[in-house]
Amino acid sequence: MVRIVLSSTNPAKVSELQQLLGSTMQVLCLSDFGVSGELNEDGDTLEENALQKARFGYAVSGSPCLADDSGLEVNALGGRPGVRSARYAGVDRNDQANMELLLAELDDADDRSARFRTVIAYVDHKAELLFEGSVEGRISTEARGTAGFGYDPVFIPEGGVLTFAEMTSSEKNTMSHRARAIALFLDHVGMLHL
Ligand code: IMP
Repeated sequence: MVRIVLSSTNPAKVSELQQLLGSTMQVLCLSDFGVSGELNEDGDTLEENALQKARFGYAVSGSPCLADDSGLEVNALGGRPGVRSARYAGVDRNDQANMELLLAELDDADDRSARFRTVIAYVDHKAELLFEGSVEGRISTEARGTAGFGYDPVFIPEGGVLTFAEMTSSEKNTMSHRARAIALFLDHVGMLHL
């Protein structure tokens, strides 16, 4: 069976990718190679972080490797929090504090437009490829909904009224940045050296 490594130690991301790739491919993660804890994400862009993680995973496993990095880009904030989305309000990951800071920073903003963006990097012995998915939308004036994670309660995708946190995961997956980036990768799977 063809093996692909996801450069992550997050089991939820591994099973999501395994479901999408189906039974012809086996998804392994870095824990399968004895790596634990969080990976280095000190790049200045999503692209740098995704590539850094995919190169690391390829070096550790010797198998074709994927890694992703995502962030929320708010136009009125010049694209912040962007690559710093997870730790926007401080060093610890804290979704509540991140959302509160974002709503406070946008308190008097007329322009609340924003996008979620995901970059997936793929590295094997021959190639380094990047796949990008994004979803445009706006930041709500208050947090709404309980599903999902991160900034889901304050992000309303374009053309709708519900936040991501007010949707089911399958509704979110029809339009999310991550689903779109994965779909682009899946379109290319047949052309890879797997
Ligand atoms: P990661 O690269 O997937 O770990 O995402 C980095 C950070 O971006 C997360 O910790 C969240 O704060 C934010 N983020 C990424 N994707 C989403 C999403 O789908 N919903 C809400 N927040 C997200």
